[in-house]
Amino acid sequence: MNAQEIQEIRGQLFKQIFSVDPVSWVENNLTMDGESFGIRGKGRKYLVDIYRYIAINALKPNGKPIVIFKGRQVEASTMALALDFYFMASGIFGTPTHEEMLAGVKKLSRIKVLHCFPQDKQTDRFIKEKANPFMNSARDDIVNKMKLKNGADTDRIKQFIGDNSLFMESTGVTGDRLRNLSADVIFFDEFQDFVVRAISNTTKIQMASRHGPHGKGIQVYFGTPKEKGSFFEKTWDKSDKRYYNLLCKRCKRYFPMFVPGTEDWKEIWIREQIISCPHCHELQDKLQAVDNGKWIPTVKGAAYVGFHFNRFIHPDTTKELIMDLAPENNPLTTDREYRNEVLGEFSSGEATPMTPQIIGENCADLNRSISRVGSLTVPTYLGIDWGKKVDGLSGGSSYSVAVLIEAHGDVMKIVNAFKLDTRGFSKKIEIIEEIFKRYNVKQAVADMGYGEDLVAELQSRLMSRVLGWYHHANYRNPYKFKQHDYYIHANKDRMVEHAFELMKNGKIRFPFKQQANIEWLVDHCCSMEAAQKIVKGQVFNTYIKGSGPNDGLVALTYALLAYKFVMTRGFTMDIMKIRPFQVKNPKPLAITGYVPGMR
Ligand SMILES: [Zn+2]
Repeated sequence: MNAQEIQEIRGQLFKQIFSVDPVSWVENNLTMDGESFGIRGKGRKYLVDIYRYIAINALKPNGKPIVIFKGRQVEASTMALALDFYFMASGIFGTPTHEEMLAGVKKLSRIKVLHCFPQDKQTDRFIKEKANPFMNSARDDIVNKMKLKNGADTDRIKQFIGDNSLFMESTGVTGDRLRNLSADVIFFDEFQDFVVRAISNTTKIQMASRHGPHGKGIQVYFGTPKEKGSFFEKTWDKSDKRYYNLLCKRCKRYFPMFVPGTEDWKEIWIREQIISCPHCHELQDKLQAVDNGKWIPTVKGAAYVGFHFNRFIHPDTTKELIMDLAPENNPLTTDREYRNEVLGEFSSGEATPMTPQIIGENCADLNRSISRVGSLTVPTYLGIDWGKKVDGLSGGSSYSVAVLIEAHGDVMKIVNAFKLDTRGFSKKIEIIEEIFKRYNVKQAVADMGYGEDLVAELQSRLMSRVLGWYHHANYRNPYKFKQHDYYIHANKDRMVEHAFELMKNGKIRFPFKQQANIEWLVDHCCSMEAAQKIVKGQVFNTYIKGSGPNDGLVALTYALLAYKFVMTRGFTMDIMKIRPFQVKNPKPLAITGYVPGMR
Protein backbone atom coordinates (compact mmCIF):
# COMPACT_ATOMS: atom_id res chain seq x y z
CA MET A 1 0.00 0.00 0.00
CA ASN A 2 1.45 3.39 -0.86
CA ALA A 3 1.05 6.58 1.11
CA GLN A 4 -1.82 7.80 -1.05
CA GLU A 5 -3.75 4.61 -0.57
CA ILE A 6 -3.25 4.76 3.17
CA GLN A 7 -4.52 8.29 3.13
CA GLU A 8 -7.56 7.28 1.11
CA ILE A 9 -8.38 4.51 3.53
CA ARG A 10 -7.96 6.88 6.44
CA GLY A 11 -10.22 9.34 4.64
CA GLN A 12 -12.97 6.76 4.20
CA LEU A 13 -12.62 5.64 7.77
CA PHE A 14 -12.92 9.23 8.83
CA LYS A 15 -16.13 9.72 6.90
CA GLN A 16 -17.64 6.61 8.30
CA ILE A 17 -16.68 7.29 11.88
CA PHE A 18 -17.61 10.92 11.93
CA SER A 19 -21.17 10.15 11.21
CA VAL A 20 -20.97 10.37 15.03
CA ASP A 21 -20.64 14.06 15.73
CA PRO A 22 -18.22 14.90 18.57
CA VAL A 23 -20.59 17.66 19.65
CA SER A 24 -23.52 15.25 19.97
CA TRP A 25 -21.33 12.82 21.88
CA VAL A 26 -20.41 15.56 24.35
CA GLU A 27 -24.03 16.70 24.70
CA ASN A 28 -25.37 13.19 25.12
CA ASN A 29 -22.80 11.97 27.58
CA LEU A 30 -21.48 14.83 29.68
CA THR A 31 -23.32 17.07 32.11
CA MET A 32 -22.52 20.31 33.86
CA ASP A 33 -23.24 19.78 37.58
CA GLY A 34 -25.90 17.29 36.58
CA GLU A 35 -27.54 19.73 34.17
CA SER A 36 -27.56 18.82 30.51
CA PHE A 37 -24.61 20.18 28.60
CA GLY A 38 -26.12 22.14 25.74
CA ILE A 39 -23.71 23.36 23.12
CA ARG A 40 -25.86 23.32 20.00
CA GLY A 41 -28.47 25.99 19.53
CA LYS A 42 -29.04 28.90 21.93
CA GLY A 43 -26.31 31.08 20.51
CA ARG A 44 -23.28 28.79 20.82
CA LYS A 45 -22.55 27.93 17.21
CA TYR A 46 -19.12 29.61 17.47
CA LEU A 47 -18.17 26.96 20.05
CA VAL A 48 -19.74 24.09 18.11
CA ASP A 49 -17.51 24.95 15.16
CA ILE A 50 -14.36 24.96 17.28
CA TYR A 51 -15.27 21.63 18.89
CA ARG A 52 -15.65 20.07 15.48
CA TYR A 53 -12.56 21.74 14.12
CA ILE A 54 -10.37 20.30 16.88
CA ALA A 55 -12.03 16.87 17.00
CA ILE A 56 -12.23 16.31 13.24
CA ASN A 57 -10.22 18.68 11.03
CA ALA A 58 -7.12 18.97 13.19
CA LEU A 59 -6.80 15.17 13.28
CA LYS A 60 -6.35 14.94 9.54
CA PRO A 61 -2.86 14.55 8.07
CA ASN A 62 -3.02 18.13 6.78
CA GLY A 63 -4.36 19.54 10.08
CA LYS A 64 -2.76 22.67 11.45
CA PRO A 65 -1.93 23.74 15.00
CA ILE A 66 -4.72 25.78 16.55
CA VAL A 67 -4.36 28.96 18.56
CA ILE A 68 -7.35 30.24 20.48
CA PHE A 69 -7.07 33.84 21.57
CA LYS A 70 -9.81 34.43 24.09
CA GLY A 71 -11.18 36.54 26.89
CA ARG A 72 -11.85 35.05 30.32
CA GLN A 73 -14.90 32.97 31.18
CA VAL A 74 -15.71 31.82 27.69
CA GLU A 75 -15.89 28.05 28.39
CA ALA A 76 -12.68 27.25 26.54
CA SER A 77 -11.18 25.11 29.31
CA THR A 78 -14.46 23.26 29.60
CA MET A 79 -14.42 22.65 25.86
CA ALA A 80 -10.91 21.23 25.99
CA LEU A 81 -11.88 19.00 28.89
CA ALA A 82 -15.02 17.77 27.12
CA LEU A 83 -12.82 16.90 24.15
CA ASP A 84 -10.31 15.14 26.44
CA PHE A 85 -13.14 12.84 27.52
CA TYR A 86 -14.50 12.50 24.02
CA PHE A 87 -11.13 11.27 22.77
CA MET A 88 -10.85 8.85 25.69
CA ALA A 89 -14.34 7.49 26.12
CA SER A 90 -16.36 7.86 22.91
CA GLY A 91 -15.24 4.48 21.57
CA ILE A 92 -14.21 6.12 18.28
CA PHE A 93 -10.51 5.85 19.13
CA GLY A 94 -8.56 2.90 20.42
CA THR A 95 -7.06 -0.41 19.50
CA PRO A 96 -10.04 -2.73 18.83
CA THR A 97 -10.39 -5.79 21.00
CA HIS A 98 -10.31 -9.24 19.41
CA GLU A 99 -14.12 -9.42 19.50
CA GLU A 100 -14.43 -5.99 17.93
CA MET A 101 -12.10 -7.02 15.15
CA LEU A 102 -14.14 -10.10 14.45
CA ALA A 103 -17.29 -8.03 14.42
CA GLY A 104 -15.69 -5.64 11.94
CA VAL A 105 -15.83 -2.62 14.28
CA LYS A 106 -13.88 0.27 12.81
CA LYS A 107 -11.97 2.64 15.04
CA LEU A 108 -9.37 5.33 14.64
CA SER A 109 -5.93 4.59 16.15
CA ARG A 110 -5.50 4.74 19.89
CA ILE A 111 -5.04 8.28 21.12
CA LYS A 112 -2.90 9.89 23.83
CA VAL A 113 -3.88 13.32 25.03
CA LEU A 114 -1.86 15.70 27.18
CA HIS A 115 -3.74 18.58 28.78
CA CYS A 116 -1.02 20.76 30.24
CA PHE A 117 -0.48 23.96 32.19
CA PRO A 118 2.68 25.90 32.89
CA GLN A 119 2.43 25.51 36.67
CA ASP A 120 1.69 22.68 39.09
CA LYS A 121 -0.73 24.81 41.03
CA GLN A 122 -2.84 25.43 37.91
CA THR A 123 -2.85 21.72 37.10
CA ASP A 124 -3.92 20.73 40.61
CA ARG A 125 -6.68 23.33 40.71
CA PHE A 126 -7.94 22.27 37.29
CA ILE A 127 -8.05 18.59 38.25
CA LYS A 128 -9.75 19.24 41.56
CA GLU A 129 -12.23 21.92 40.55
CA LYS A 130 -12.97 21.00 36.95
CA ALA A 131 -11.74 17.68 35.63
CA ASN A 132 -12.75 15.36 38.47
CA PRO A 133 -16.27 16.77 39.01
CA PHE A 134 -16.85 16.85 35.25
CA MET A 135 -15.66 13.27 34.79
CA ASN A 136 -17.75 12.00 37.69
CA SER A 137 -20.92 13.74 36.55
CA ALA A 138 -20.98 12.08 33.10
CA ARG A 139 -24.24 10.32 32.23
CA ASP A 140 -24.29 6.66 33.14
CA ASP A 141 -20.78 7.25 34.53
CA ILE A 142 -19.53 6.65 30.98
CA VAL A 143 -16.06 8.15 31.41
CA ASN A 144 -15.20 6.08 34.49
CA LYS A 145 -16.67 2.97 32.88
CA MET A 146 -14.37 3.37 29.89
CA LYS A 147 -11.28 3.35 32.09
CA LEU A 148 -8.95 0.43 31.74
CA LYS A 149 -9.37 -2.07 34.57
CA ASN A 150 -6.16 -2.19 36.59
CA GLY A 151 -4.77 0.62 34.43
CA ALA A 152 -3.21 3.81 35.76
CA ASP A 153 -5.88 5.97 37.38
CA THR A 154 -4.38 8.85 39.29
CA ASP A 155 -5.29 12.53 39.23
CA ARG A 156 -2.70 13.13 36.53
CA ILE A 157 -2.63 9.90 34.51
CA LYS A 158 -5.64 7.90 33.38
CA GLN A 159 -5.65 4.92 31.06
CA PHE A 160 -8.70 3.93 29.05
CA ILE A 161 -9.89 0.90 27.15
CA GLY A 162 -8.19 0.49 23.78
CA ASP A 163 -4.86 1.91 24.99
CA ASN A 164 -6.08 5.51 25.08
CA SER A 165 -4.55 7.68 27.78
CA LEU A 166 -5.04 11.11 29.25
CA PHE A 167 -2.32 13.05 31.04
CA MET A 168 -2.98 16.24 32.96
CA GLU A 169 0.37 17.73 33.78
CA SER A 170 2.41 20.87 34.08
CA THR A 171 5.42 21.56 31.92
CA GLY A 172 7.35 23.66 34.43
CA VAL A 173 9.78 26.09 32.80
CA THR A 174 11.59 23.48 30.70
CA GLY A 175 9.11 20.75 29.85
CA ASP A 176 11.79 18.21 30.81
CA ARG A 177 9.51 16.43 33.23
CA LEU A 178 7.25 15.32 30.35
CA ARG A 179 10.10 13.94 28.27
CA ASN A 180 9.13 10.32 28.81
CA LEU A 181 5.53 10.70 27.69
CA SER A 182 4.24 10.39 24.18
CA ALA A 183 1.18 12.21 22.95
CA ASP A 184 -0.93 12.73 19.84
CA VAL A 185 -2.88 15.75 21.05
CA ILE A 186 -1.63 18.48 23.38
CA PHE A 187 -3.80 21.18 24.86
CA PHE A 188 -1.72 24.07 26.16
CA ASP A 189 -4.06 25.65 28.67
CA GLU A 190 -3.21 29.18 29.97
CA PHE A 191 -0.93 29.54 26.95
CA GLN A 192 0.05 33.12 27.87
CA ASP A 193 2.02 31.84 30.89
CA PHE A 194 4.16 29.16 29.22
CA VAL A 195 7.89 29.52 28.83
CA VAL A 196 8.80 29.13 25.15
CA ARG A 197 11.41 26.47 25.86
CA ALA A 198 8.81 24.39 27.70
CA ILE A 199 6.49 24.48 24.67
CA SER A 200 9.13 23.44 22.16
CA ASN A 201 10.38 20.64 24.41
CA THR A 202 6.87 19.39 25.08
CA THR A 203 5.88 19.19 21.43
CA LYS A 204 8.83 16.82 20.89
CA ILE A 205 6.81 14.07 22.57
CA GLN A 206 4.53 14.10 19.51
CA MET A 207 7.14 12.74 17.09
CA ALA A 208 5.41 9.36 16.89
CA SER A 209 1.90 10.79 16.78
CA ARG A 210 -0.70 8.61 15.10
CA HIS A 211 -3.04 11.53 14.43
CA GLY A 212 -2.68 14.86 12.72
CA PRO A 213 0.29 15.75 10.50
CA HIS A 214 3.03 13.12 10.46
CA GLY A 215 5.59 13.58 13.23
CA LYS A 216 3.79 16.63 14.56
CA GLY A 217 0.46 15.63 16.04
CA ILE A 218 -2.16 18.11 17.13
CA GLN A 219 -1.49 21.20 19.24
CA VAL A 220 -4.13 23.47 20.64
CA TYR A 221 -2.82 26.64 22.27
CA PHE A 222 -5.39 28.60 24.19
CA GLY A 223 -5.23 31.41 26.64
CA THR A 224 -6.05 34.97 27.55
CA PRO A 225 -3.55 37.43 26.10
CA LYS A 226 -1.29 39.67 28.07
CA GLU A 227 1.18 42.09 26.56
CA LYS A 228 2.10 43.01 23.02
CA GLY A 229 5.31 41.44 21.78
CA SER A 230 4.69 38.28 23.80
CA PHE A 231 5.14 34.78 22.41
CA PHE A 232 1.36 34.52 22.38
CA GLU A 233 1.10 37.48 20.04
CA LYS A 234 3.81 36.05 17.78
CA THR A 235 1.94 32.75 17.59
CA TRP A 236 -1.36 34.48 16.90
CA ASP A 237 0.34 36.43 14.10
CA LYS A 238 1.20 33.13 12.41
CA SER A 239 -2.47 32.16 12.30
CA ASP A 240 -5.23 32.81 9.82
CA LYS A 241 -6.95 34.99 12.48
CA ARG A 242 -10.54 33.90 12.31
CA TYR A 243 -13.24 36.11 13.73
CA TYR A 244 -16.74 34.92 14.24
CA ASN A 245 -19.13 36.64 11.84
CA LEU A 246 -22.82 36.99 12.54
CA LEU A 247 -25.37 36.70 9.76
CA CYS A 248 -27.91 39.48 9.32
CA LYS A 249 -31.38 37.99 9.01
CA ARG A 250 -32.49 40.75 6.65
CA CYS A 251 -29.68 41.51 4.19
CA LYS A 252 -27.96 38.12 4.65
CA ARG A 253 -24.56 39.67 4.94
CA TYR A 254 -21.93 38.65 7.47
CA PHE A 255 -20.23 40.95 9.98
CA PRO A 256 -17.88 40.37 12.94
CA MET A 257 -19.26 41.41 16.28
CA PHE A 258 -15.85 42.39 17.60
CA VAL A 259 -12.37 42.85 16.18
CA PRO A 260 -9.56 43.68 18.66
CA GLY A 261 -8.40 47.25 18.59
CA THR A 262 -11.65 48.57 17.11
CA GLU A 263 -14.71 50.17 18.71
CA ASP A 264 -17.28 49.34 16.04
CA TRP A 265 -18.95 46.92 18.42
CA LYS A 266 -20.38 49.83 20.38
CA GLU A 267 -22.51 50.75 17.35
CA ILE A 268 -23.40 47.14 16.52
CA TRP A 269 -24.44 46.11 20.01
CA ILE A 270 -27.43 48.22 20.92
CA ARG A 271 -28.50 46.85 24.29
CA GLU A 272 -29.01 43.55 26.11
CA GLN A 273 -29.03 40.91 23.32
CA ILE A 274 -30.11 43.28 20.55
CA ILE A 275 -27.71 44.03 17.73
CA SER A 276 -27.89 46.24 14.68
CA CYS A 277 -26.53 45.05 11.34
CA PRO A 278 -23.71 47.39 10.28
CA HIS A 279 -24.80 46.98 6.61
CA CYS A 280 -28.58 47.50 6.74
CA HIS A 281 -29.08 48.56 10.40
CA GLU A 282 -31.80 45.99 11.00
CA LEU A 283 -32.25 45.39 14.73
CA GLN A 284 -32.16 41.70 15.61
CA ASP A 285 -31.50 39.03 18.20
CA LYS A 286 -27.81 38.42 18.85
CA LEU A 287 -28.25 34.70 19.63
CA GLN A 288 -30.03 34.03 16.38
CA ALA A 289 -27.44 35.97 14.36
CA VAL A 290 -24.72 33.94 16.11
CA ASP A 291 -26.40 30.62 15.36
CA ASN A 292 -26.57 31.55 11.67
CA GLY A 293 -23.00 32.83 11.64
CA LYS A 294 -19.61 31.36 10.79
CA TRP A 295 -15.88 31.73 11.36
CA ILE A 296 -14.15 33.74 8.66
CA PRO A 297 -10.33 33.72 8.31
CA THR A 298 -8.70 37.08 7.64
CA VAL A 299 -5.24 35.84 6.57
CA LYS A 300 -4.52 33.48 3.69
CA GLY A 301 -1.99 30.64 3.71
CA ALA A 302 -1.18 30.87 7.42
CA ALA A 303 0.59 28.03 9.25
CA TYR A 304 -1.84 28.03 12.18
CA VAL A 305 -5.59 28.18 12.50
CA GLY A 306 -6.56 31.01 14.85
CA PHE A 307 -9.86 31.64 16.60
CA HIS A 308 -10.51 34.85 18.46
CA PHE A 309 -13.42 35.21 20.81
CA ASN A 310 -14.37 36.93 24.00
CA ARG A 311 -17.36 37.20 26.28
CA PHE A 312 -19.26 39.40 23.84
CA ILE A 313 -20.43 36.42 21.91
CA HIS A 314 -21.38 34.30 24.92
CA PRO A 315 -25.16 33.84 25.01
CA ASP A 316 -25.47 35.01 28.63
CA THR A 317 -23.56 38.25 28.12
CA THR A 318 -25.44 41.50 27.71
CA LYS A 319 -24.05 44.82 26.59
CA GLU A 320 -24.86 46.19 30.03
CA LEU A 321 -22.60 43.58 31.66
CA ILE A 322 -19.69 44.53 29.40
CA MET A 323 -20.24 48.23 30.13
CA ASP A 324 -20.30 47.47 33.87
CA LEU A 325 -16.91 45.81 33.58
CA ALA A 326 -15.29 48.77 31.83
CA PRO A 327 -12.77 50.53 34.08
CA GLU A 328 -14.52 53.89 33.69
CA ASN A 329 -17.62 52.36 35.28
CA ASN A 330 -15.99 49.91 37.65
CA PRO A 331 -13.35 50.75 40.22
CA LEU A 332 -12.45 47.06 40.56
CA THR A 333 -11.18 46.53 37.00
CA THR A 334 -8.06 48.07 35.60
CA ASP A 335 -7.66 49.07 32.00
CA ARG A 336 -5.24 46.19 31.47
CA GLU A 337 -7.64 43.59 32.90
CA TYR A 338 -10.51 44.93 30.85
CA ARG A 339 -8.49 44.79 27.64
CA ASN A 340 -6.98 41.35 28.26
CA GLU A 341 -9.76 39.51 29.98
CA VAL A 342 -12.98 41.09 28.74
CA LEU A 343 -12.15 42.36 25.25
CA GLY A 344 -9.45 39.78 24.53
CA GLU A 345 -6.81 42.23 23.33
CA PHE A 346 -3.11 42.50 23.89
CA SER A 347 -2.12 45.39 26.12
CA SER A 348 0.90 47.60 25.67
CA GLY A 349 4.11 46.21 27.17
CA GLU A 350 4.23 48.81 29.94
CA ALA A 351 0.76 47.89 31.14
CA THR A 352 1.81 44.35 32.07
CA PRO A 353 5.04 44.90 33.91
CA MET A 354 5.90 41.31 34.84
CA THR A 355 4.69 37.91 33.66
CA PRO A 356 5.39 34.30 34.69
CA GLN A 357 6.81 33.90 31.19
CA ILE A 358 9.46 36.60 31.73
CA ILE A 359 10.45 35.14 35.11
CA GLY A 360 10.48 31.58 33.72
CA GLU A 361 12.66 32.62 30.75
CA ASN A 362 15.09 34.93 32.53
CA CYS A 363 15.21 34.22 36.22
CA ALA A 364 14.85 30.48 36.78
CA ASP A 365 17.68 28.60 38.50
CA LEU A 366 16.53 25.16 37.47
CA ASN A 367 18.91 23.20 39.63
CA ARG A 368 18.62 25.23 42.81
CA SER A 369 16.11 24.57 45.59
CA ILE A 370 14.98 26.83 48.37
CA SER A 371 17.57 26.77 51.18
CA ARG A 372 16.35 25.93 54.65
CA VAL A 373 19.51 27.37 56.08
CA GLY A 374 21.86 30.15 54.99
CA SER A 375 25.49 30.01 54.00
CA LEU A 376 27.99 30.76 56.75
CA THR A 377 30.11 32.90 54.49
CA VAL A 378 27.61 34.75 52.33
CA PRO A 379 25.33 37.19 54.15
CA THR A 380 21.68 37.49 53.28
CA TYR A 381 19.32 40.42 53.08
CA LEU A 382 15.82 40.08 54.43
CA GLY A 383 12.60 41.84 53.44
CA ILE A 384 9.43 41.52 55.51
CA ASP A 385 5.94 42.60 54.53
CA TRP A 386 3.51 42.37 57.41
CA GLY A 387 0.07 40.95 56.65
CA LYS A 388 -2.84 43.31 56.85
CA LYS A 389 -4.57 40.95 59.23
CA VAL A 390 -4.58 42.32 62.73
CA ASP A 391 -5.41 40.02 65.64
CA GLY A 392 -8.84 40.46 67.11
CA LEU A 393 -10.05 42.56 64.20
CA SER A 394 -11.93 41.39 61.16
CA GLY A 395 -10.79 42.25 57.67
CA GLY A 396 -7.50 41.58 55.96
CA SER A 397 -6.55 38.11 54.88
CA SER A 398 -2.92 38.28 53.85
CA TYR A 399 -0.18 36.71 55.91
CA SER A 400 3.15 38.25 56.62
CA VAL A 401 5.80 37.34 54.07
CA ALA A 402 9.59 37.12 54.37
CA VAL A 403 12.00 37.01 51.42
CA LEU A 404 15.73 36.34 51.78
CA ILE A 405 18.28 37.17 49.09
CA GLU A 406 22.01 36.73 48.69
CA ALA A 407 24.13 38.96 46.48
CA HIS A 408 26.56 37.23 44.14
CA GLY A 409 28.22 40.02 42.23
CA ASP A 410 25.37 41.89 40.60
CA VAL A 411 23.07 38.85 40.75
CA MET A 412 20.53 38.57 43.54
CA LYS A 413 19.60 35.02 44.47
CA ILE A 414 16.37 34.37 46.27
CA VAL A 415 17.42 31.97 49.00
CA ASN A 416 14.03 31.42 50.56
CA ALA A 417 10.63 33.07 50.60
CA PHE A 418 7.76 32.09 52.81
CA LYS A 419 4.61 33.15 54.54
CA LEU A 420 4.70 33.42 58.31
CA ASP A 421 1.84 31.12 59.22
CA THR A 422 0.93 33.00 62.33
CA ARG A 423 -0.84 36.14 63.33
CA GLY A 424 0.49 36.26 66.88
CA PHE A 425 2.79 39.15 67.80
CA SER A 426 5.34 37.22 69.85
CA LYS A 427 5.29 34.29 67.44
CA LYS A 428 6.21 36.60 64.58
CA ILE A 429 9.09 38.05 66.60
CA GLU A 430 10.29 34.54 67.42
CA ILE A 431 10.24 33.50 63.75
CA ILE A 432 12.14 36.60 62.59
CA GLU A 433 14.79 36.08 65.26
CA GLU A 434 15.13 32.50 64.14
CA ILE A 435 15.56 33.63 60.52
CA PHE A 436 18.37 35.93 61.64
CA LYS A 437 20.16 33.03 63.25
CA ARG A 438 19.59 30.57 60.51
CA TYR A 439 20.37 32.76 57.52
CA ASN A 440 23.22 34.99 58.53
CA VAL A 441 21.12 38.11 57.93
CA LYS A 442 23.20 41.21 57.48
CA GLN A 443 20.36 43.66 57.05
CA ALA A 444 16.59 43.51 57.14
CA VAL A 445 13.97 46.01 56.02
CA ALA A 446 10.36 45.70 57.15
CA ASP A 447 7.15 47.55 56.40
CA MET A 448 6.09 50.12 58.98
CA GLY A 449 2.54 50.52 57.70
CA TYR A 450 1.08 47.47 59.43
CA GLY A 451 3.99 46.60 61.66
CA GLU A 452 5.22 49.64 63.56
CA ASP A 453 5.03 47.79 66.88
CA LEU A 454 6.70 44.70 65.41
CA VAL A 455 9.56 46.73 63.97
CA ALA A 456 10.04 48.56 67.29
CA GLU A 457 10.19 45.25 69.15
CA LEU A 458 12.66 43.75 66.65
CA GLN A 459 14.85 46.84 66.87
CA SER A 460 14.96 46.53 70.65
CA ARG A 461 16.46 43.07 70.12
CA LEU A 462 18.43 43.38 66.89
CA MET A 463 19.12 47.11 66.78
CA SER A 464 19.74 48.63 63.36
CA ARG A 465 19.89 45.25 61.67
CA VAL A 466 16.17 45.76 61.24
CA LEU A 467 15.11 48.98 59.57
CA GLY A 468 11.56 50.17 59.08
CA TRP A 469 10.32 51.39 55.71
CA TYR A 470 8.00 54.27 54.90
CA HIS A 471 6.81 55.21 51.45
CA HIS A 472 8.16 58.50 50.33
CA ALA A 473 6.56 60.42 47.49
CA ASN A 474 9.76 61.79 46.00
CA TYR A 475 10.39 60.15 42.62
CA ARG A 476 13.55 62.05 41.81
CA ASN A 477 15.40 61.28 45.03
CA PRO A 478 13.70 58.06 45.92
CA TYR A 479 15.88 56.85 48.81
CA LYS A 480 16.51 58.63 52.07
CA PHE A 481 17.99 57.65 55.41
CA LYS A 482 18.92 59.97 58.25
CA GLN A 483 21.80 59.04 60.50
CA HIS A 484 20.62 57.50 63.78
CA ASP A 485 17.20 57.08 62.33
CA TYR A 486 16.00 53.49 62.14
CA TYR A 487 13.68 54.16 59.23
CA ILE A 488 14.25 54.26 55.50
CA HIS A 489 12.11 56.53 53.42
CA ALA A 490 11.90 55.15 49.90
CA ASN A 491 9.62 55.44 46.93
CA LYS A 492 7.67 52.21 46.40
CA ASP A 493 7.20 52.72 42.67
CA ARG A 494 10.92 53.13 42.12
CA MET A 495 11.57 50.04 44.26
CA VAL A 496 9.18 47.93 42.18
CA GLU A 497 10.57 49.33 38.95
CA HIS A 498 14.09 48.45 40.07
CA ALA A 499 13.01 44.88 40.91
CA PHE A 500 11.34 44.46 37.51
CA GLU A 501 14.37 45.79 35.66
CA LEU A 502 16.54 43.28 37.47
CA MET A 503 14.11 40.48 36.57
CA LYS A 504 13.97 41.48 32.91
CA ASN A 505 17.78 41.32 32.87
CA GLY A 506 17.90 37.97 34.67
CA LYS A 507 19.59 39.54 37.71
CA ILE A 508 17.15 38.14 40.24
CA ARG A 509 17.32 34.36 40.42
CA PHE A 510 14.42 32.22 41.63
CA PRO A 511 15.05 28.71 43.02
CA PHE A 512 13.02 26.69 40.51
CA LYS A 513 14.14 23.17 41.31
CA GLN A 514 10.89 22.46 43.10
CA GLN A 515 8.81 24.83 41.07
CA ALA A 516 5.68 24.24 43.14
CA ASN A 517 7.37 25.87 46.16
CA ILE A 518 8.06 29.12 44.39
CA GLU A 519 5.02 29.52 42.12
CA TRP A 520 3.21 31.65 44.68
CA LEU A 521 6.07 34.17 44.72
CA VAL A 522 6.09 34.29 40.91
CA ASP A 523 2.35 35.05 41.01
CA HIS A 524 2.86 37.80 43.58
CA CYS A 525 5.50 39.36 41.32
CA CYS A 526 3.09 39.28 38.37
CA SER A 527 0.06 40.83 40.03
CA MET A 528 0.94 44.50 39.55
CA GLU A 529 -0.64 46.89 37.09
CA ALA A 530 1.39 49.75 35.68
CA ALA A 531 0.43 53.33 35.07
CA GLN A 532 2.39 56.50 34.54
CA LYS A 533 2.72 59.66 36.52
CA ILE A 534 4.14 63.02 35.55
CA VAL A 535 6.10 64.73 38.29
CA LYS A 536 7.45 68.18 37.43
CA GLY A 537 7.39 67.40 33.74
CA GLN A 538 9.13 64.05 34.10
CA VAL A 539 7.35 60.74 33.48
CA PHE A 540 7.59 58.01 36.12
CA ASN A 541 6.12 54.53 36.23
CA THR A 542 3.73 53.78 39.04
CA TYR A 543 2.47 50.37 40.08
CA ILE A 544 -0.91 49.49 41.49
CA LYS A 545 -1.90 46.26 43.12
CA GLY A 546 -3.89 44.07 40.68
CA SER A 547 -6.48 41.47 41.56
CA GLY A 548 -4.09 38.96 43.14
CA PRO A 549 -1.90 39.28 46.26
CA ASN A 550 1.49 40.97 45.95
CA ASP A 551 3.01 40.63 49.44
CA GLY A 552 5.85 38.43 48.17
CA LEU A 553 6.91 41.06 45.64
CA VAL A 554 6.74 43.78 48.27
CA ALA A 555 8.94 41.75 50.65
CA LEU A 556 11.39 41.15 47.78
CA THR A 557 11.65 44.90 47.13
CA TYR A 558 12.44 45.39 50.85
CA ALA A 559 15.18 42.75 50.65
CA LEU A 560 16.65 44.57 47.63
CA LEU A 561 16.38 47.82 49.57
CA ALA A 562 18.28 46.26 52.49
CA TYR A 563 21.07 45.30 50.09
CA LYS A 564 21.13 48.73 48.52
CA PHE A 565 21.20 50.34 51.95
CA VAL A 566 24.30 48.38 52.95
CA MET A 567 26.09 48.88 49.65
CA THR A 568 25.54 52.63 49.59
CA ARG A 569 26.23 53.08 53.31
CA GLY A 570 22.79 54.43 53.94
CA PHE A 571 22.32 55.90 50.44
CA THR A 572 25.24 58.27 50.95
CA MET A 573 27.25 56.81 48.07
CA ASP A 574 26.30 57.03 44.45
CA ILE A 575 25.07 53.57 43.46
CA MET A 576 26.48 54.09 39.96
CA LYS A 577 29.99 54.32 41.37
CA ILE A 578 29.82 51.17 43.46
CA ARG A 579 31.10 47.96 42.00
CA PRO A 580 29.14 45.01 43.26
CA PHE A 581 31.24 42.84 45.52
CA GLN A 582 30.71 40.04 47.91
CA VAL A 583 30.39 41.19 51.49
CA LYS A 584 32.17 38.86 53.87
CA ASN A 585 30.64 38.06 57.19
CA PRO A 586 33.18 36.78 59.68
CA LYS A 587 30.85 35.54 62.41
CA PRO A 588 29.21 32.16 62.01
CA LEU A 589 25.94 32.20 63.88
CA ALA A 590 24.43 29.46 66.00
CA ILE A 591 21.57 27.58 64.42
CA THR A 592 18.79 26.41 66.69
CA GLY A 593 16.04 23.89 66.11
CA TYR A 594 13.00 23.92 63.90
CA VAL A 595 10.43 26.62 64.52
CA PRO A 596 6.88 25.58 63.58
CA GLY A 597 5.25 28.05 61.28
CA MET A 598 8.40 28.72 59.32
CA ARG A 599 8.54 26.88 56.05
ZN1 LIG B 1 -28.24 43.54 7.36
